[in-house]
Amino acid sequence: MSNQKNMSIQSLARKNVRELTPYQSARRLGGNGDVWLNANEYPIAPQFELTAQTFNRYPECQPVLVIERYAAYAGLEKDQVLVSRGADEGIELLIRAFCEPGKDAILYCPPTYGMYSVSAETIGVEARTVQAKEDWSLDLPAIKAALDGVKLVYVCSPNNPTGNLINPEDLRTVLEMTRGRAIVAIDEAYIEFCPQASVTGWLKEYPHLVVLRTMSKAFALAGLRCGFTLANSELIALLMQVIAPYPLSTPVADIAAQALSDQGLAVMRARVAEMGETRSWLTQQLKRCDCVEQVFASETNYLLVRFTASSQVFKTLWDQGIILRDQNKQPGLSGCLRISLGTRQECQRMLDALQPLPGINERTAIMNNETAPSKEPM
Ligand SMILES: *Cc1c(COP(=O)(O)O)cnc(C)c1O
Repeated sequence: MSNQKNMSIQSLARKNVRELTPYQSARRLGGNGDVWLNANEYPIAPQFELTAQTFNRYPECQPVLVIERYAAYAGLEKDQVLVSRGADEGIELLIRAFCEPGKDAILYCPPTYGMYSVSAETIGVEARTVQAKEDWSLDLPAIKAALDGVKLVYVCSPNNPTGNLINPEDLRTVLEMTRGRAIVAIDEAYIEFCPQASVTGWLKEYPHLVVLRTMSKAFALAGLRCGFTLANSELIALLMQVIAPYPLSTPVADIAAQALSDQGLAVMRARVAEMGETRSWLTQQLKRCDCVEQVFASETNYLLVRFTASSQVFKTLWDQGIILRDQNKQPGLSGCLRISLGTRQECQRMLDALQPLPGINERTAIMNNETAPSKEPM
């Protein structure tokens, strides 16, 4: 009691929470742009009307229509599908269900999505990394050597922010080396842009495989907060033990079911085709800019671009209200910015802003003099 008044809120907090770097986003950092190309959102809002009105009642924990429709869409059984508050909640549920804080570890391969480590660190689980090879393929021997104590491996394919698919043979190798030891979660947040690459068909062979999906990207519903975890029924049943009793609000379930109707799926597929065309066009246009060093091939709704002076590019565009995602700090991605596909008009505004920037061949000299306005980790 006597020293209670000396206890600051900070010192009362868990140590790992005090030391946590939260997920950074331009919105959180207070950016006030009008061309948002930083979060891989779709640039135009789809229109929905609510049909459910029973707001006096708690919602279903796992809304039946949403589960039925997603299972049909994914080619799986209903008991192989869990719906949650975005794929981010799926990432966290897996750690909570499988990892003992202070004992077990997760493993992932940077450069990649930032929430695996944020979730692990929040829960007090070690986040171990095995850097991808220079060509962004998995370093299989290094992964094998790092598996001691690892309960959960996250692999993002297509990978955010690099845009490439992970070689399916390498995914199989990871699944073989982890059999009976760890769960492998393949993050397919962008799989609608390359549906033939999905590994959901492998669930029959691998009881420890999990696939993560979202409505935030190709379905254009980032504001809905709705995602899916796909796995065999035994694993899904385990996640049901740790999920909140009412993870989705009634309006979310209502809109998700509409977006997964036959018509909703047709709209999504048309959107994917249109964005593919935008991606080819933007790739060609970017390659003509002096300040662009390299445009990486992408299977997704964003492009990773290496600039001759990325900090200058980032700041120049930021000051004009065009917000990109700085990837400079990720291993192997010096000079790289990630650009989400906006409307043609938004892309053109960005190109117009890039056009006057010179192609300085002194990237390293400039990098030593960073003045980026953000410290985004990914
Ligand atoms: C956007 C994204 C997610 C998160 O999806 P939400 O459903 O919006 O939580 C997960 N993984 C990757 C790789 C993403 O890019």
